[in-house]
Amino acid sequence: MKTEALPFAFFQGKVVKIEDAKVSIMTNALQYGTAVFGGMRGYYNKKENYISVFRIDDHYKRFLSSIHILGCKFAYSASELRDITLELLKKNSPKTDVYFRPFAYLGHTNIGPNLADATMDFSLYMIPMGEYLPVDKGLSVLVSSWRRITENSISPRAKISGAYVNSALARKEALENGYDEAVFLNDRGHVCEGSAANIFIVRDGVLITPSIADDILEGITRRSIIQLAKDLNIPVEERSVARSELYIADEAFFAGTGVQVAWIREVDKRLVGNGKRGKITGLLQDKFFKIVRGEDEKYQEWCTKVKIK
Ligand code: PMP
Repeated sequence: MKTEALPFAFFQGKVVKIEDAKVSIMTNALQYGTAVFGGMRGYYNKKENYISVFRIDDHYKRFLSSIHILGCKFAYSASELRDITLELLKKNSPKTDVYFRPFAYLGHTNIGPNLADATMDFSLYMIPMGEYLPVDKGLSVLVSSWRRITENSISPRAKISGAYVNSALARKEALENGYDEAVFLNDRGHVCEGSAANIFIVRDGVLITPSIADDILEGITRRSIIQLAKDLNIPVEERSVARSELYIADEAFFAGTGVQVAWIREVDKRLVGNGKRGKITGLLQDKFFKIVRGEDEKYQEWCTKVKIK
């Protein structure tokens, strides 16, 4: 899938045209995956002509944590990153839903994988984005034969570029076998997450999601869904989840910035529940889409609204 970016990017300390945001083939991050990235969404409100950016400060907090886990130096604070992002959004002024890709990377061209004494460069670009995976059709999911990377190999808590080869392998296996998406088990055999989204199940009215000690990315959407469920008095458990619990769950869904909230119809050819969107999933999904668009009064603090030219 070819992606058309919005016209302006932030690159090497300034705003440039996207076609000028180019690096050398020798770039260390390109050769070794020595980089971290983020992913945020902005939702366009046509009536009032604003973009609602979802949880920008939380995204940049995690972005800086990822750099910190690698132990690299970085010149920007969370508030500077926020300012750069909102300024660039105004400059691009898209009249569509949009996805932001902040990227911190080893921009030097020295040979060898090495994080010692390393400073990361920063870039940011934006693309129009609708659905990454269908949210309405009910996804068919494969438990991947690839295990999730572990805390003591490459921490899945950080969004490290090189680590996403693990996700790409699982996604390849799922797509080539006719599934919509993969779900990983970790090296202890516990359910982790999708290739780029956290997973939830519902059993007997309880919302359950793998714990943050089970080799997952600490998703901002995950955290939002947990908060939302608690606010709706839905009991929530964060704990280890066994593979067969996916098969006998009443409901299941993925949650992530790209995926948004997308319900799962079957896992390994076993129908989840009655094969329809579940009640709790539906409640959370519908509320989630209102919230991210800045249309729910109660969750305004999660949304930064930017007027578009
Ligand atoms: N897990 C993985 C592996 C991901 O790449 C993502 C997407 N960032 C998520 C979970 C969901 O995280 P978030 O809700 O913060 O986008």
